[in-house]
Amino acid sequence: MNDLNNLDRDGPLPSGTASPRGIDDSRLSARGSLDRGGPAQPLLMVRNLRKYFPVRGGLFARNSQQVRAVDGVSFNVAKGETLAIVGESGCGKSTTARLIARLMAPDEGELVFDGDGVGQFGGMALKEFRRNLQMVFQDSYASLNPRMTMLETVAYGPQVHGASKADALARAAALLARVGLAPEQFGNRYPHELSGGQRQRVNIARALAFEPRLLILDEAVAALDKSVQAQVLNLLQELKTERHLTYLFISHDLHVVHYLADRVMVMYLGQVVEIGPVGALYTAPRHPYTKALLSAVPSMDPAKRTERSPLAGDPPNPINPPSGCRFRDRCPLAHPRCAAEVPLLREASDGHFSACHLEHLP
Ligand code: SF4
Repeated sequence: MNDLNNLDRDGPLPSGTASPRGIDDSRLSARGSLDRGGPAQPLLMVRNLRKYFPVRGGLFARNSQQVRAVDGVSFNVAKGETLAIVGESGCGKSTTARLIARLMAPDEGELVFDGDGVGQFGGMALKEFRRNLQMVFQDSYASLNPRMTMLETVAYGPQVHGASKADALARAAALLARVGLAPEQFGNRYPHELSGGQRQRVNIARALAFEPRLLILDEAVAALDKSVQAQVLNLLQELKTERHLTYLFISHDLHVVHYLADRVMVMYLGQVVEIGPVGALYTAPRHPYTKALLSAVPSMDPAKRTERSPLAGDPPNPINPPSGCRFRDRCPLAHPRCAAEVPLLREASDGHFSACHLEHLP
């Protein structure tokens, strides 16, 4: 059994996962011993990411409390995989994505990109990391500059990074064509002249213009009609293979996640409660929260309907989360130990980790 939350553990980490404290500093500093740049080296390692947001209240706004939006999150993303992050609203999945993209500064935590510590002395500079990592957001309209044509939008990134205007525009035209928008028809249009699906294709083309290695897709297909959503998902799958991309896919839609993901990470109240291969997690979920999430997904096949109880109640206040297991107020299997002790994220089966005391009962 591997224990991912045990901060005192010194042993090697399992592939694709990590302890909050990280793979261990000795391996990070001994760069020669890492398979740096090789296929076994994870593309992204996230270590003990934390972000608390202050909430002011009381007389003269003196009382300061903190929302624990992301609280000690650690995981790896392997090269070429799609790792999905799922959970209810407010679980911290989008904040995790924004912290990784450095759209906001974490209070604590470490990022390692293909063996290079991001922003560390001697490591990868933030500017280079940002070029390697691009994000596509849910709101396709707000993501685009209303005063720029689609060609200008896609060409902007390469120009900022030193390409000539002619080269950047040629690259933009090729990318628009690749995402299914004929440049002669759509290149000179503005965002308001496109549909939501077309705008999201432009956003994908703009992200690809930086030639990234990692794409973070934050609810990127959530606002699209089902038929358009399917087209964009197929496009993402093609682009991933064609350009050797790695995806971090944030979604609340478990059907879409099942279709796209290789592995799934489940978050609850700012923490990881389960992570594992998509097949194992969907057919044999370990954590009571994951079971409840999956049982809430409607199935068209009566044979696949389960007896699992649906998720009851709302998540507790993230300012003052319950002691021990944060899920215990809603868990039908909670027992006294759940209030007294934080469950550790441990390996239940090959590459499948869960943070629940029931995993470790004798
Ligand atoms: Fe439920 Fe306890 Fe497991 Fe938490 S640790 S999920 S409360 S059984």
